[in-house]
Amino acid sequence: SLQCGIVGLPNVGKSTLFNAISTGKAEAANYPFCTIEPNVGVVTVPDERIDVLIGLVKPQKVIPTIMEFVDIAGLVKGASQGAGLGNKFLANIREVDAIVHVVRCFQDENVVHVEGRVDPVFDKEIIDIELQLKDLESIEKKMQKTEKGARAGDAKAKAELELLKKYKETLEAGKNARSLVVSDPDLKESAVGDLKLLTDKPVLYVANVDEGSMLTGNEYSEKLREAVAHEGADVIVLCAAIESQISEIEDEEEHEMFLGEYGLKESGLSKLIKASYALLNLITYFTAGVKEVRAWTIVKGWKAPQAAGVIHSDFEKGFIRAEVIKLADYEQYKSEAGVKEVGKMAVEGKEYVVVDGDIMHFRFNV
Ligand code: GDP
Repeated sequence: SLQCGIVGLPNVGKSTLFNAISTGKAEAANYPFCTIEPNVGVVTVPDERIDVLIGLVKPQKVIPTIMEFVDIAGLVKGASQGAGLGNKFLANIREVDAIVHVVRCFQDENVVHVEGRVDPVFDKEIIDIELQLKDLESIEKKMQKTEKGARAGDAKAKAELELLKKYKETLEAGKNARSLVVSDPDLKESAVGDLKLLTDKPVLYVANVDEGSMLTGNEYSEKLREAVAHEGADVIVLCAAIESQISEIEDEEEHEMFLGEYGLKESGLSKLIKASYALLNLITYFTAGVKEVRAWTIVKGWKAPQAAGVIHSDFEKGFIRAEVIKLADYEQYKSEAGVKEVGKMAVEGKEYVVVDGDIMHFRFNV
């Protein structure tokens, strides 16, 4: 499954947040294909819709969707030059699909700040610069490789080199690779696809605030929000210390009560997981039967056969059609048969683009 890497300077609350993630972890037995490493947390993606389906279908088994978070500790100033365990951590980041950047927005004299003061915007820039330097290194290497072909008059190499130069300029100007708008996705893929640029990965920010600012945010989280507004990036405000307490509570009712006491409708962790899922451009469809109600993860924009392939490759190869029910109709008519009777079950072909929340039944040839 897809992975989000948690990055940030030391002492900003990454481990605290990661512990909260790992405590509320998905039931491992359901996901035997996941290799669980100590720095990887597997979580269930909270989804109210699956609860509705469970209520209607009353299945023997329920399998929600999951996603993985990787704790990438040890990023410090100078990491791109090998400071700390710099290069190892940067290599870890290369493997993730998206980045959750935790920024310290709380004052606490007992918790040392590596740079001596709380300044979330400056902290964020330290991390950005390390990642940009690393990307610059990758770009320059690729430019050397591409130059030969370009000089020999190869048109494709020339176009790639042009684009690589643009990336170089962007990074040298202290901007992230993702800020460069590239109109030709194929050219982008051939020029930089293999580099897995760190600053080209989608990012969201976590403003780790003090307990008192959980609902409102504070001056630090506001500054952060202003600073990243032009990136169009999400900022999730939460208090990692409290999230870690919340995650310890297994009893659902007690959990609700605890949230209520803090005036929270939903835990920060739940918000973070949902935002990360969306950041990865993922959506969910459901299959619903008495034996099993299950949520499946696909990329937004996938057509029915590709979506079916997530269940089994045979479903994709032998795809005939998909029967699609909307959750609202399932709720209104109570069962698949009820929905069919009133003619609300759609029969869709190969070109159908799956919509988030669809309840799907695939017909296929073996
Ligand atoms: P990491 O180095 O980024 O992984 O940071 P840690 O999670 O280890 O946290 C560093 C210190 O900050 C620990 O002593 C935590 O207890 C403390 N800490 C983490 N989150 C919060 C928070 O939300 N509020 C306060 N006051 N302290 C926190």
